[in-house]
Amino acid sequence: MALALVVHGGAGAIAAERFDAARAGCRAAALAGWRVLRAGGAALDAVQAAIVVLEDDPSFNAGTGAVLTADGRAQLDAGLMDGRTLEVGAVAAVERVKNPVALARQVLRSRHVLLVGEGAERFAGAHGIALCDPADLVTPARRARWRGGDLADEDVVAAPAVPAVGDGRVGPAPGRRRSRPGPTPIRDEDRHGTVGAVAVDGEGRTAAGASTGGIAGKHPGRVGDTPLVGCGFYAEDGLAGVSCTGHGEDFTRLLLARRAAELVGAGLSAQAAASAAIRLLGERLHGEGGLILLDAAGRVGCARNTGAMAYAYIVDGMGAPAAGI
Ligand code: ASP
Repeated sequence: MALALVVHGGAGAIAAERFDAARAGCRAAALAGWRVLRAGGAALDAVQAAIVVLEDDPSFNAGTGAVLTADGRAQLDAGLMDGRTLEVGAVAAVERVKNPVALARQVLRSRHVLLVGEGAERFAGAHGIALCDPADLVTPARRARWRGGDLADEDVVAAPAVPAVGDGRVGPAPGRRRSRPGPTPIRDEDRHGTVGAVAVDGEGRTAAGASTGGIAGKHPGRVGDTPLVGCGFYAEDGLAGVSCTGHGEDFTRLLLARRAAELVGAGLSAQAAASAAIRLLGERLHGEGGLILLDAAGRVGCARNTGAMAYAYIVDGMGAPAAGI
């Protein structure tokens, strides 16, 4: 079977001076996952390896360097799925785990699907995953932004114009509503950085996962799509693997990762399915975001209706990952 791996570093508006770092981070993550696949490893291991690299890179909103809640804490969510066994592992609102995706992987091996908060941390301790000081996850840059008023982003200004990402160009979400009264929106360039990965291995196994600090200034305890199977990630052998990023409530309402996979099942190409799912997000809920997708043959789909989405992919025959914004 053809090997394939794609990662994303979040959809949103990325400031031009952060393009290089975002692309480099995605490339490094893709390489880490690719090494696993090339060594004959499982798609699930490749996804985890790629996401760990992104969690450890403080320029992304996952693991170290995640955005902070309204009360100034990093509360992390992550999930992943094995498309062969349909096993799922996820954690939400953890504050003392350096690599939430590794903890999610441990949950996947257990009889549980999703563990949250303190219970998830106790599970980590019981399964040999060292707990860290919550302060270790907070970078000076994130703390400074929080002090400067990273506020809940219930709603944001109309989406910016969309530059092309190959065929993944989808029209902007038609003017995001300000339906729920809330504080001033956060700066647009802070609205990105969730990470995710999808892989197909040599045995045709598909896996997908995602990891995030969520939305800057979120209510403590708020959980978005990222650790919710079928919403922020989904994988099923013979169908597709999907990882999403964007306004999590809307992805959750639409079960968007699962929908995108079903579009592949209905006969759409990987790219057409990715684009159709994001189009639906914009049209149905004025939602903003993007997703990456691999079909069972390892063909890549990548779509967004935001100003940017950092991504990288590598498939058989490529000497190095291709990265883009
Ligand atoms: N989907 C994430 C959440 O809502 C945020 C993001 O992808 O930027 O928590």
